[in-house]
Amino acid sequence: MSNQTKPIPLQPAVFFDRDGVLNVDTGYTHRVEDCQLIPGAAAAVRMANDAGYKTLVVTNQGGIALGYYTQDMMLTFHDHLTALIYAETGGVIDDLRFCPHHPNAADPALKHCDCRKPSPKMILDLAAEHHIDLAASIMIGDRDTDVEAGEAAGCRGVLFTGGRLDLALKPHIL
Ligand SMILES: [Mg+2]
Repeated sequence: MSNQTKPIPLQPAVFFDRDGVLNVDTGYTHRVEDCQLIPGAAAAVRMANDAGYKTLVVTNQGGIALGYYTQDMMLTFHDHLTALIYAETGGVIDDLRFCPHHPNAADPALKHCDCRKPSPKMILDLAAEHHIDLAASIMIGDRDTDVEAGEAAGCRGVLFTGGRLDLALKPHIL
């Protein structure tokens, strides 16, 4: 008998860094009232949606380990950010992974990890969960560590150097 199980088709993704890419980076940004979209961020998410890419956020949130804010506050910020994006363009963020650790954390349990970018682990974990074709995917971030993480995962790493995010992303979307 033939095996009836069909493989789940792989889909490309855009992996977005958060601070400095989707929202203005004010330094450990975590207060909802400080949440300001980068120009073109909502349009970029919508463009990725429309082009058939999953939209996945991978963000280092070492402020949690440093005690600047809690995981719940970070998630509340994320909910607000996704609501702003949706309100502006109807763009949808499909999922989020964050690294709550930091090398300078006082708590040894929060000091060391294998997920903080430039590690590709958050990207690889999301890719496995969402059946992502990494070779057809993009990681866009405003730091070299974002590009390194993307390339280590087998994606195209794109450095966002400012301006409109949708214009920066557009040349890389098929
Ligand atoms: Mg950033």
